[in-house]
Amino acid sequence: ASDPLPASTTVRTTCPYCGVGCGVLATTSADGVVSVAGDPEHPANFGRLCSKGAALAETLSLDDRLLHPEIGGARASWDDALGLVAGRFAETIAAHGPDSVAFYVSGQFLTEDYYAANKLMKGFIGSGNIDTNSRLCMASSVAGHKRAFGSDTVPGCYEDLEEADLVVLVGSNLAWCHPVLFQRLSAAKAARPELRIVNIDPRRTATSELADLQLAIAPGGDVALFSALLCHLADVGAADIRFIARHTNGLAETIDAAAISPDELPAATGLALAEIETFFDWFAGTAKVVTVYSQGVNQSVTGTDKVNAIINCHLLTGRIGRPGMGPFSVTGQPNAMGGREVGGLANQLAAHMDIGDAAARERVQRFWQAPTIADRPGLKAVEMFEAVADGRIKAIWIMATNPVVSLPDADAVRAALAACPFVVVSDVVRETDTTALAHVLLPAAAWGEKDGTVTNSERRISRQRGFLPLPGEARPDWWQIAEVARRMGFADAFGWDGAGAIFREHAALSAADNQGSRDFDIGGLAGLDDAGYDDLAPVQWPVPVTSQPGDTAPKRFFADGRFFTPDGKARFVPTPHRPLDLGAGNGFDMVLNTGRIRDQWHTMTRTGKTARLTAHIAEPFAEIHPADAARLGIDAAGLVRIASRHGSAVVRALVTDRQRPGAVFVPMHWTGQTASAARIDAVVAPATDPVSGQPGLKATAVRVAPFAAS
Ligand code: SF4
Repeated sequence: ASDPLPASTTVRTTCPYCGVGCGVLATTSADGVVSVAGDPEHPANFGRLCSKGAALAETLSLDDRLLHPEIGGARASWDDALGLVAGRFAETIAAHGPDSVAFYVSGQFLTEDYYAANKLMKGFIGSGNIDTNSRLCMASSVAGHKRAFGSDTVPGCYEDLEEADLVVLVGSNLAWCHPVLFQRLSAAKAARPELRIVNIDPRRTATSELADLQLAIAPGGDVALFSALLCHLADVGAADIRFIARHTNGLAETIDAAAISPDELPAATGLALAEIETFFDWFAGTAKVVTVYSQGVNQSVTGTDKVNAIINCHLLTGRIGRPGMGPFSVTGQPNAMGGREVGGLANQLAAHMDIGDAAARERVQRFWQAPTIADRPGLKAVEMFEAVADGRIKAIWIMATNPVVSLPDADAVRAALAACPFVVVSDVVRETDTTALAHVLLPAAAWGEKDGTVTNSERRISRQRGFLPLPGEARPDWWQIAEVARRMGFADAFGWDGAGAIFREHAALSAADNQGSRDFDIGGLAGLDDAGYDDLAPVQWPVPVTSQPGDTAPKRFFADGRFFTPDGKARFVPTPHRPLDLGAGNGFDMVLNTGRIRDQWHTMTRTGKTARLTAHIAEPFAEIHPADAARLGIDAAGLVRIASRHGSAVVRALVTDRQRPGAVFVPMHWTGQTASAARIDAVVAPATDPVSGQPGLKATAVRVAPFAAS
C-alpha cells in the first residue's frame, strides 16, 4: 500500500498589503497548492478579505524572483556578497565618516527587520541615515501627533468607526485603499442608516458612493476648511470648555491663526458655502465624530498643518479618547506603524524615543552596548537621495523598496543612483527599476517565506508566519543585516538565531525605555519564548510588563485627558491657511494628483502577477474633467503627455466629471518595467512638508496635452 498523503496544513498569518492588517489563513494542500482565506478570528477583519488579499495565493510564483546574490550582475556566494557590502561600508565610513552611508528601507519590512537595520545604523555605524518609504506614507501624521500630543500616538481603533454617528473621511479613498475597513464602515452604515459619512476628496471615488455629503475640496484647501470649522465650533458653543481648560494649551493663538472670512472660504476650499455649512452643522451637532485621514492629508507640503488642523477640532470639542470619537490616521503600508515603534525613521531613535533626547540616547546605547549612538536626525527620504546625487552619501543599501519608481522626481533619483559609488539592493524581485542600478543584489525572503510581526493602523501587532520554504538562496532581511553587522565587527550585538530573538530584544528595550510611564511598553511580551512567539495572537499595544497572560483589553489612549507633553496637556497648534504655491504658470496650469487603484499594490511586483487583479484596470490613465479635455483638445481614451518641470509621462485620458476641473489624477503603480512612459513619479515635484519631510505627492503643477507619437 502506498503511504497516505500528508494532510493539508493551515498557517495563521497577516496580509502584506495595506495598513488594515487583515488576518489570513494560508492553507497548503497535500499536493503543495496554497489557498488563502480571511481569518475569522482576527480582530481587524473577522474573516473578510479584499480583492488583493483574496488573490495572495496567485502571487507566489518564483518566475521573476531574485534567487541568488549577485555582484556586478554575476552570481556570487553569500559570503562574497556580504563581505563586499561590509567591507565597502566600513571603508566608506573610515574615509568619509558615518554620515556618508545610508539605509533606505520600507513599510514592507517586518518589525524585526526594521529593528535590526535601525540598530546597525544608529548604534553601531553611528549615523541617523536610515529612512523608509513610510516617509511617503504617514510622516505628516507622526509629526502632527507629536506636536499635539507630545508623542506619536494613534488614539483610535477600528471599532470607533462603527460606533461613531459621523465619520469624516479626509483625503482617503477608503473603498480602494483600505477596503476591509471600508467594508466594516459599510456594514455599520447598513445597520444604522443614521450614521452619517462625509467624504472630503477632490475626486468622486468609490468611497463617495457611501457618503451622505461629498466635498470636492480644492487641492490644498484642507487647512482652510478645518480652521474655519474650528472657528465655527467655537462660535456656536460646541467647545468643551472644561476639557479645554483642564487638558489643553494654546487655544487662543490657534483661533487667531485660524480666522478666515466667509468670503474667502469658497475660494480657499473650492467649495460652496452651503455645503460647507452643512458639514459644519453636522460636525458641531454630533458628539460621536471620527475623522479618518490618510494620504490626501499626509502627502502634502502642508501635511503636518492639515493633521493639526483636524486634531484641533477634536481637542476643541473634547472628542478624543472616548469610544466613537477622535482623529484617526490610517496608514498606507502594512507595517508603517511597526517601523515607528522601533525607530525606522531618520528622526526617531527606538521604542518611541527621540533622537534629540540625550537621556534616551544614553539609555538606548547602554541597552545595545553599542560603541556609539547617532546624536542627531539623519536624512529623510527625499533629502537622502539628494545627498546621493551631490555625493555626500557614497554608499547606500536599499531594502524592500523601489525608489526609482516611487520617489518624487524619480528620474533624478535614477541618475543619483547611477552615479553613486556603491549601491546595494535587497529585494525579492530580480528586475526592477532600482535593481538595475545595484552593484550588489541580495535575494530577500518574500511574504509566505518570512517570519516576524507587523503592526496595523490601530496599533495591533500580528504575526506574519512563513508557510513556504525559502527559495534558492533567499534569506530574511534581518539575517542579511545581522550578517553584514558581524562582518563589520559587531558579532556580539547581532547574534540572533531567529526573528523571535529580535522581537524579545525589542520588547525588552521598550520596557527599559519606561521612566514611570508604561504607555508605549510592550515589555509584557519580552518574556515570550520561541513557542510563545510562534503562537502570539494579535494584540494591541501597549502590553506593559504588568499585564496578565491573556489580558488583551486595549488601552484607550487619552481617556483620562492626559497627554505625553511635559505638562500632560494637549497642544492646539496654529495652522494659518497658506494658499498652495506650486509655481504654476508657463503653461503648467493643471494640478497633478497621484494615488492608488483598487487592485494593485505599490509597484505591482506582486499584484501584477495575477490576471484577476490586472483585469480590473489594465493600464495607467489620467482622470481629467470634460471641460479641461475640451479646452485642451484631448479625446476620450486618447493618449496625453503630462509634463512638469521635472519629467513627463504618457498615459491614456479618462475623461470624467468625477475629477475637479483644473486637476488630473494618475495612479502611481506603473513602472519602467511595466509601461516605460508611465512612471508618474518622474513628473512629481520633490517638494516636502517642512516639518515632516513628507513629499507632496498630491499636488504638482503640470501641463497636459494630447500626445502624438512621432
Ligand atoms: Fe490586505 Fe488591506 Fe485588503 Fe486587508 S484590506 S486584505 S490588509 S489589502
